[in-house]
Amino acid sequence: MTYSLPDICSIIGATASSVSAAIITEISWDSRRIITPAGTLFFALHGARRDGRQFIAQLYQQGVRSFVTSEPGLDTLYSGAVFLRVTDPLQALQQLAAYHRSRFSLPVIGITGSNGKTIVKEWLYQLLHSRYNIVRSPRSYNSQIGVPVSVWQIEPQHNLAIFEAGISQPGEMEKLQAIIQPTIGVLTNIGEAHSAGFINRQQKLDEKLLLFKEAGIIIYCNDNDAVDQAVRKLPNARLSWGHNPEADILVVQSTASTTQTHIQLLYKEQPVEFSIYFTDEAAIENAITCAAVLLALGCEPVFIQEHMLLLQPVNMRLELKKGINNCVLINDSYSADINSLQNALQFLSQQSSSLTKTAILSDFIQAATDDSTLYGQILQALQENGVQKLIGIGPAISQALQQRSANQGMELQLYSSTESFIHQFRPSQFKDEAILVKGARIFGFEQLVPLLEQKAHQTVLEINLNALISNVKQYQQQLRPDTKIMAMVKAFAYGSGGAEIAGILQFHKVDYLGVAYADEGVELRKAGITLPIMVMNPEPAAFENIITYNLEPDMFSPEIFRAFSAFVAQEGLQHYPVHIEIETGMNRLGFLPEQWKELAMQLSQSSLLKVQSVFSHLAASEDAQEDAYTFAQFEKYNQAVGVLQQYLHYPFIKHIANTSAIGRLPQLQLDMVRLGIGMYGVGNIPGLQQVATLKTTVAQVKTLEAGETVSYNRRGVLQRTSKIATVRIGYADGYNRKLGYGNAYVLVHGQQAPVVGTVCMDMTMVDVTGIADVNTGDEVVIFGKDLPIQQLATWAGTIPYEIMTGISQRVKRVYFEE
Ligand SMILES: *Cc1c(COP(=O)(O)O)cnc(C)c1O
Repeated sequence: MTYSLPDICSIIGATASSVSAAIITEISWDSRRIITPAGTLFFALHGARRDGRQFIAQLYQQGVRSFVTSEPGLDTLYSGAVFLRVTDPLQALQQLAAYHRSRFSLPVIGITGSNGKTIVKEWLYQLLHSRYNIVRSPRSYNSQIGVPVSVWQIEPQHNLAIFEAGISQPGEMEKLQAIIQPTIGVLTNIGEAHSAGFINRQQKLDEKLLLFKEAGIIIYCNDNDAVDQAVRKLPNARLSWGHNPEADILVVQSTASTTQTHIQLLYKEQPVEFSIYFTDEAAIENAITCAAVLLALGCEPVFIQEHMLLLQPVNMRLELKKGINNCVLINDSYSADINSLQNALQFLSQQSSSLTKTAILSDFIQAATDDSTLYGQILQALQENGVQKLIGIGPAISQALQQRSANQGMELQLYSSTESFIHQFRPSQFKDEAILVKGARIFGFEQLVPLLEQKAHQTVLEINLNALISNVKQYQQQLRPDTKIMAMVKAFAYGSGGAEIAGILQFHKVDYLGVAYADEGVELRKAGITLPIMVMNPEPAAFENIITYNLEPDMFSPEIFRAFSAFVAQEGLQHYPVHIEIETGMNRLGFLPEQWKELAMQLSQSSLLKVQSVFSHLAASEDAQEDAYTFAQFEKYNQAVGVLQQYLHYPFIKHIANTSAIGRLPQLQLDMVRLGIGMYGVGNIPGLQQVATLKTTVAQVKTLEAGETVSYNRRGVLQRTSKIATVRIGYADGYNRKLGYGNAYVLVHGQQAPVVGTVCMDMTMVDVTGIADVNTGDEVVIFGKDLPIQQLATWAGTIPYEIMTGISQRVKRVYFEE
């Protein structure tokens, strides 16, 4: 559904000096995600840190011509562009969405609660998509921005909407209610989460219930008295479920086996029974909530029974793996619908620009759209995200695409089934590609993924990209809004992976990258990283590559300065960007005080080099007892800057703080900070998340008697009858030998299993006596959320930096986004 600009102008009550008749098909608030510039209306939202107004020039260049902003006087700067002026662009976005919503009279399910919103939403979709043409919130879009963007997706062909709403402070729900206007209210579990912005639980609960102001019915669990009373105060009709006789839907019994739970409900004196392939409390609660919604919609018990059994885990996790022949693989083999396709394509488009983009898709599951329109939309979405090759698997996709005359210039291969693809598969068909694998559950794409995956042993380092970005944001909050960040990605991004990490940092707009050696920078450039990259230790042998790949070397001594200047002169270049390192007390690299003036004079007399930044490195910023030394370093650094400023008549970036200085010493922020280990979750500010999890598996389990010995030199002597598991990690993977002899433990089924005897090159034995049901193939956590890397470092008598960078390259890195 589209709107013309004049329509929108009056809907949001904007003023504009001139309004073209442009037709708007998309709204956007994120400058990185513009698909059709000409049809996009960009809302220049401004918050504490991000200011959408900053991106107007860049978006104009990309072809965006319609903006909503609070900034006056832009019309004269950008010819042909329209600026709708409002006081609060976020409010305008919400108004537009509320207007859009009010044009439709479909049933709208509004979900709120502390936990389970996204799962209930996704499960309702799984349960109902064969009956309804559903529009729903993408991912967990439930915020003040996410909700309007979700609601904007409603189109005339939809006949059911499911939206979630989340709040963090009073006053927010009223706004979300006006946008969603739910006709059916669903309240999920009310836990303790997100209490921070509220005085108490009651206030939070009352605020949440505002979502249901105009809902015809509220569906909720009445087992909790406070919740029950709060809902009963409202005038709405209610449908409650619970374990008490007051409940409209009585939970008679739920019995779990090892893999399934059987649930018996009683509704209007009729039994409703079903099973789900889940056994945890939260899943049972969410499933019953879904069953109540289905009953409210008039679904028959048989329908509920059949569909509940098909519920799948909500896998919001997109995995990025190394593939065969230099491919990367994005595994999303659990869902196939247009909404989740958009997310997966966004993830794909963040991948290196030097790889061909390929999509392997199954038939899509979507009711009430005819196939030709559906696959037409899919092709368009693929094309907009730069996909060059499409492999379609399944009868419907094959038929729809075969009939089309034009395939938007995409290479097309069609297979009638997953089996026929596997049968005809040859590894040489794929090379230098970023491959998105996305299919509906019934197509069994999990059989296809191993064919494309690079074979490696079962020890993996999992990198949580959301946690990485969240950590960067935590540090950003410690900084003044205009302080830049140089992300240190040296040593393979502290062991967590070079190009993948740099790619995600680039997408999230850090300002600079720092590497140790030129080769590391070359790798990043080859992977399509365009951010400026500082090389801390440029060797003359690498000068050629530095220039070819547009890297910015650190000039840390008169020798390197002379050699690089000569090289630049010989190449006939001018103003080549470099960084100047000042020695202030680390006593590693840098210009000494007696060399500063000479350096400044030479720089000012020649136009070969252009100083991008001047920096120094702190020796003990993590240690409060050394603060006097740190401040002396800072003082010395400022003197050097003074000397350089006397001679250089242009500005340069100043920086000295590393991770621990950012947290402890805000006075040292200057123009930029160099963020290293903190990004990976090891640091001294609150709210950091562990980014890396090192995991392996059990190879064998055996029971041994007291007195028997384990591993080399018979150092592990058993004191009792013991169950010993051999796990697939050793010192060649980076598991230090100091961790042997009971000095460390690993986690098996979440429980501590001490290391027994000597750590071997490729294997380690751990004591799993007393841990139930340990079998071959079980997962073993070496470090992660519940066993911090700091702990491992302490056991091994080292620091987290060494543990992280010591994980060897044979350990496969798996990246995921949730
Ligand atoms: C490694 C490094 C950093 C980052 O240090 P962290 O302690 O990991 O933040 C900053 N600056 C220089 C010069 C470095 O070598």
